[in-house]
Parts: sequence; structure tokens; C-alpha cells
Amino acid sequence: MVTDKGTIDCDQVVIGAGPWVRDFWNMLELPKTTNVKGKDGKTHEVDMWTYWFLQEGILGVDADYLRTNDGKQPPVIHVDTDAPLHSDKDGKLITDELWGIYYKPDIDGLGVQGGTSPYIVQKHFDKVNVDPYGVESPEFQTTDKFSDMWTSALAHCQKRFVGKSNLYRKGPSGGLGCLTPDSFPIFDRFCENVYMIADANHGYKMIGVGELVAKEILGQESELLKPFRFNRYEKGELHPTSNSPFPWS
Ligand SMILES: Cc1cc2nc3c(=O)[nH]c(=O)nc-3n(C[C@H](O)[C@H](O)[C@H](O)COP(=O)(O)OP(=O)(O)OC[C@H]3O[C@@H](n4cnc5c(N)ncnc54)[C@H](O)[C@@H]3O)c2cc1C
Repeated sequence: MVTDKGTIDCDQVVIGAGPWVRDFWNMLELPKTTNVKGKDGKTHEVDMWTYWFLQEGILGVDADYLRTNDGKQPPVIHVDTDAPLHSDKDGKLITDELWGIYYKPDIDGLGVQGGTSPYIVQKHFDKVNVDPYGVESPEFQTTDKFSDMWTSALAHCQKRFVGKSNLYRKGPSGGLGCLTPDSFPIFDRFCENVYMIADANHGYKMIGVGELVAKEILGQESELLKPFRFNRYEKGELHPTSNSPFPWS
């Protein structure tokens, strides 16, 4: 393996590079498109990767603002609905199409943190500037449209947020995610000794994958990981399409 610290001999390479997976994919000269056998029985050629921008932010209420009525920590709340959403500021219709949000107490006590549906970056994946990443990115940041929508959606979901949209903490937020053709992870071997974990933004649901991957590398194939092989696309063995506005739920 060639690295910026020199060439390292190894039997096995494991790649778990999140939104940088594209770069490793390209280094391995793997195909830019993949053939997907659709439900119609026909084969469709699609781009291997799609970047989505994940929109998140913080409402600057008290750290305990979201506690349950009996003072306990609340669950993470996730709402998907097509109920018309009106602005918390002026009552104007924001959308009457499917929308979704999630929210929870901010881990650093800055208020209530959460996000809304991500959007697809309308560029070929090779043209997307992943670096500088996240809050450092000059190109990919949430806008007023996001904060209006998310704070209004909070007010829609819980009365305690009505009239609080002015407490939104303005500033850089959000980040890019790199999604596979069916928006589910790929766990597979490439080029003989490269094991790729392409997480497709499934986050905490991936806890435990490391151990399964380690066992696979040592020769014990995992029944749980099998449905996530790369050849599922050409075989047409895709995972169900999400009905939510979030590609990973
Ligand atoms: C804005 C945002 C909010 C999210 N919120 C949640 C959430 O609330 N809950 C949840 O479960 N998931 C969340 N996710 C999804 C979650 O962050 C990812 O699914 C998860 O981080 C993927 O883990 P990973 O280890 O595969 O990749 P990553 O965590 O992205 O790690 C990849 C690592 O590879 C490193 N790397 C890249 N290139 C190189 C290189 N050339 N050499 C060496 N190292 C390299 C990177 O620096 C990075 O440390 C969120 C994602 C985003 C973008």
C-alpha cells in the first residue's frame, strides 16, 4: 500500500473511509458506474456514488428544554409526515409534500440538536469537493431555508417550540455523505485483498460491523453481511426502497 508515510507491505487492506470512499474506489480503479438489475428485469447503468448534503443545526434553548414532563431524558424524536408545514415566523406554507425531521438534546448542552432530510448534490461524484469537510467547507453549509424549515417543523411537532425559531444558532453546520446505488452499505472484498466498508451514512446501525468484518477477513463468512455484497446490484438483489425522505431509514 502506498501512503504519505511510504510504502507499507501488508496482507490485507481494510477501508472504512465514510464520505472519502470515492477516492479509494478511484485509486483501486473500480468502475464509475454499476449495472443494476431493476424490478422490471432490465439492467440500468447508474453512477456508483451519489453525494448527499446532510442538514443539521441547533436551537439555542436551555440544555434541559427537551426533557420529558417528568424530567427524564427524552428519546431521539424522528417524524416523517406529509402534513402541510407552515412557517413558525409568519405562518406561510413551507411545504405540503413529504418532509421529515429528527431532534434530541445537544450533546454539548447547547440546546436541541437535529436535522431534516438531506438533499442530493447535483454534481457527478468525481466533481464534488469533499474537502475541506463539514463546518470547514466553503461550499456545503446549511442555509436560512434549512433553519426556517427545521425550526418550523419543531414547532409543528411540539408546542414548546412555537415562537422559538429566533433562537436558532446561526453558523456552519451539516456535512456530506456518500451513498451507494441503493443507499445501503457495501461490505465486500475488492482486488483480492482490499476489504471495503462503505457505510452509506447508516451511522450507529453499523455498530458491530467491525467485528463481523474482522471475522470475515479471518475466513468466517458472515450471513449478516452477505446481503450487502457489491454483486447484489447486477443480480437485482436490492434492499427495499425507503418511503421516508431519508435515504438511510
Ligand atoms: C452531518 C452528519 C450528521 C450525522 N449524524 C449522525 C447521527 O446523529 N447518528 C448516526 O448514527 N450517524 C450520523 N451520521 C452518519 C455517521 O456519521 C456515519 O455513518 C459514520 O461516521 C460512518 O462511519 P465510518 O467509520 O464508515 O466513516 P467516518 O466516520 O466518515 O470515518 C472515515 C475516516 O476516514 C478518514 N480518512 C479519509 N481519507 C483518508 C485517507 N486518505 N487516509 C487516512 N484516513 C482517511 C477520515 O478522516 C475519517 O476519520 C451523520 C453524518 C453526517 C454527515
